[in-house]
Amino acid sequence: MCGIFGIFDHPEASNLTYLGLYALQHRGQESAGIVSSDGKCLHHYRQMGLVSEIFTRDTLKKLTGKSAIGHVRYSTAGSSELKNAQPFEVDYAKGGMAIAHNGNLTNASLIRSELESSGSIFQSNMDTEVIIHLIARSKEKTFAERTIRALKQVEGAYSLLFLTEKEMVAVRDPYGFRPLVLGQLKDAPVVASETCALDLIGAQFLREIEPGELLLIDRDGTQSFKPFLQTRYAQCIFEFIYFARPDSFIFNRNVYEVRKSLGVQLAKESPADVEMVVPIPDSGFPATMGYATESKIPLELGMIRNHYVGRTFIEPEQSIRHFGVKIKLNPVKGLMKGKRIVTVDDSIVRATTSRKINKMFRNAGAKEVHVRISSPPITHSCFFGIDTPKKSELIASSHSLKEIQRYIGASSLRYLSLEGLRSCMKEEADRFCYACFSGDYYLPCALET
Ligand code: SF4
Repeated sequence: MCGIFGIFDHPEASNLTYLGLYALQHRGQESAGIVSSDGKCLHHYRQMGLVSEIFTRDTLKKLTGKSAIGHVRYSTAGSSELKNAQPFEVDYAKGGMAIAHNGNLTNASLIRSELESSGSIFQSNMDTEVIIHLIARSKEKTFAERTIRALKQVEGAYSLLFLTEKEMVAVRDPYGFRPLVLGQLKDAPVVASETCALDLIGAQFLREIEPGELLLIDRDGTQSFKPFLQTRYAQCIFEFIYFARPDSFIFNRNVYEVRKSLGVQLAKESPADVEMVVPIPDSGFPATMGYATESKIPLELGMIRNHYVGRTFIEPEQSIRHFGVKIKLNPVKGLMKGKRIVTVDDSIVRATTSRKINKMFRNAGAKEVHVRISSPPITHSCFFGIDTPKKSELIASSHSLKEIQRYIGASSLRYLSLEGLRSCMKEEADRFCYACFSGDYYLPCALET
C-alpha cells in the first residue's frame, strides 16, 4: 500500500504536498518523499519514517518551485530501505522525471530481466523502476506519449503520478485497482489517492480519475487521454473494507457509509444472542455501528486503543506485529464481567491478532465472545498492491470455520458472505476485485509472480 499526492502550479506546492502526505499517512508508514519542480529542474527529499519525522521547515524550504509530487510507502514489492523510497527521481536524455506509484506490477520481474540483459542498470529492487527505464528508452516525442508507450508494456495495479520540469502526469491502470482523485485548490490542479488529502488542504473534489485514464497537467491546462485497452474494472474492495480512511470518498462511494452497510448486512446474515456489540478499533468501528443499528443491541466501546502505536497490519516485521497487539489494545474490564458480547472486526488474516484479542476479552471477564467479520474469509494472496501474506499463512486458506473459531477462542465465528459483500456494492458490484476471497485474479500473469 502507498499513498500519492501532487499539486501543479501553486506557490506553496511543497508545503501542501507535505500536508497531503500527512492525510495519507495511513496508506504507508515506512518512508516518505517529495519531489518539486521550479520549472527548470527537480528537487527531492526522501527518508525512512513518518511524514512528521522526515520533513522540517528547512527541508521543505529547499523543495522550491510551484509543482510537487509526494509519496508515502508501505512495501509490497522491494525491501523496506531508503533506496526503495519514492518518489524516484532520475535525469535522462530528455531531462528530469520523478515517479510516485501506488500498486504492484505483475510482470515487472520479466520486464526487468529483459532490460538488464540489454544493459540497463537498476538502482532499486522496486517494480516501479521498470517504468522509468521503459520511458527513458521510448522514442516517442512527448513525455505523455513516452509514458503511454511504457505503460502499455506493464501489467497489474498502478495509480501513478509523474513530475517533470514542466508537467505533471496522473494515470490509473485500466482495471482501476487503486483509487486516484482529482481536485482543485483555487486554480491549481491537485491529485491524491483519497479525498481526505484534498479536505485537509481545502481543495475542492472534482472527480475520480477513471480507470485507464491519463491526465496531462501543464501550463495550458488539463488534458484527458484514454490510451489503454479497456477490459473490465477491478477496483480493490479491500480499500472499502480496511485500507482507505472512512472520511474519504473513493470509487464513487463514501468509505464510512460502505463500511457501515457491511455491518448492517453482517447483522442480517449472522445475528448473535448477546448483551452488547463491541468494535475492534479502529477500522472495525463503522461496521460495528451498522451491526448494532441493525441488531438493536447496545454498542459499547469495550476495547480501547492506544493511538500512539501504528496499525498492526501495516508493520512489516513479524516480531513487531506480535508485540503490537498487546501494547495497542486493552479491554474495559468493568464492562465485560459476566457478559455475552459480540465483537465486530473487518478481517482475519493469520488470526494471531484475533486470538489475542479474544483472550483479552475472556481475561477481562466476558462470559461469551462471539466474533463477526465484515468481510468474507481471505483465502488468497493479493498481487495488486496490498501486503497480504503468502497463501499458506492465511488461516482461511487451509482451515475450516470451526477450526478457526476454535483457534481464536470464540464462542461463535461468522464472516460476511461474498454475496452479502457484493450486495452492499449494489449495481456497481461487478466493478470490484474480490480475488483475495475468490481466487479470481483477472490477470493470469498474477499467478506466476
Ligand atoms: Fe484488493 Fe483483494 Fe483484489 Fe488485492 S486481491 S486488489 S486486496 S480485492
